[in-house]
Amino acid sequence: MSNILFVGPQGSGKGTQAKRVAAVEGIPHISTGDIFRAAIAEQTPLGREVQPFLDSGSLVPDELTIGLIRERLQQPDTVTGFVLDGFPRNMAQAGALDEMLDAIDRPLDIVFEFALSDELALERCLGRAIEEGRTDDTPEMIARRLGTYHEQTEPIVQHYRAAGRLVVIHAERSIDEVNAELSAALAQATA
Ligand code: AMP
Repeated sequence: MSNILFVGPQGSGKGTQAKRVAAVEGIPHISTGDIFRAAIAEQTPLGREVQPFLDSGSLVPDELTIGLIRERLQQPDTVTGFVLDGFPRNMAQAGALDEMLDAIDRPLDIVFEFALSDELALERCLGRAIEEGRTDDTPEMIARRLGTYHEQTEPIVQHYRAAGRLVVIHAERSIDEVNAELSAALAQATA
């Protein structure tokens, strides 16, 4: 059983790795970004509510995001573990998650921080925007999301470092190299 958290900026490859680890471990991959994008594509009430935040590159309000995760973690498929990707994104969300997991007595086993330079994160995001024809992903938007990451999300890394569950992953390397490092760290953590 593994309760795993992935933290890292856009362009760090975090989402790709989170999906892989979830598939290998046979546990759900829970990505708030994916949930929001799917809701927007389907034009559900949630989608309509969150679209302006995604469009402007700012965070969706905590109340909504925390409620969404609270419900998701109550689904039976999370009992054997989960990979959380993109949540928590700030200290308020991290505090809420700690409380939720305490209440069900299922603490996080491991927190992976994907570390890479802003230059490389920007370069990868721009490359992807061009490849996928995402005209909304301008250099300004990408830089703004990186700024939000440093200001709001990085403090949660310190929080988990203090709790002794943090493993830093050098995310500048290839997908396969990063994946090998993750697998080794997981095997050690759950041995
Ligand atoms: P991501 O795919 O994780 O980069 O998320 C895409 C967008 O969804 C972000 O830029 C935010 O607008 C929103 N989002 C995703 N996760 C969260 C979260 N935990 N809290 C607030 N907003 C979020």
